[in-house]
Amino acid sequence: MYDDANIFSKILKKEIPCRVIYEDVFGLAFHDINPKAPIHALVIPKGKFKNFDDFVKLATPDMIVGFHKTIENTIETLGVRSEGYRLLVNSGLNGGQEVPHFHVHILAGGPVGPMTCAHHH
Ligand code: AMP
Repeated sequence: MYDDANIFSKILKKEIPCRVIYEDVFGLAFHDINPKAPIHALVIPKGKFKNFDDFVKLATPDMIVGFHKTIENTIETLGVRSEGYRLLVNSGLNGGQEVPHFHVHILAGGPVGPMTCAHHH
């Protein structure tokens, strides 16, 4: 079940503010409040999808394609395409997802370092 009280749902409903980077009919991109890189954006679809699995299973093909273009347009707006960036999606307990509305992180603005995993041996 999707939780309508989650913070990104409230951002979509404009009940709480955010620093908008880019917006279209499929999604909204804004700056992460606790950035982990010089540029840290979040891109969220305009629909009730709690995670990646929900989005892929429940969104229409138009929404799935459109949302990927929302991400690409955000990359364009941020001006980070040529220097590079990392896209990241957390899901569930092991993935460390905190907000139960599907979102894609864009990390950029400098080298974002190697991928790490706290419990990798
Ligand atoms: P995740 O761990 O993938 O669920 O990431 C959630 C992200 O949302 C974290 O990077 C938080 O810093 C960010 N975040 C939480 N609340 C807000 C908010 N009100 N505005 C912008 N970003 C937020």
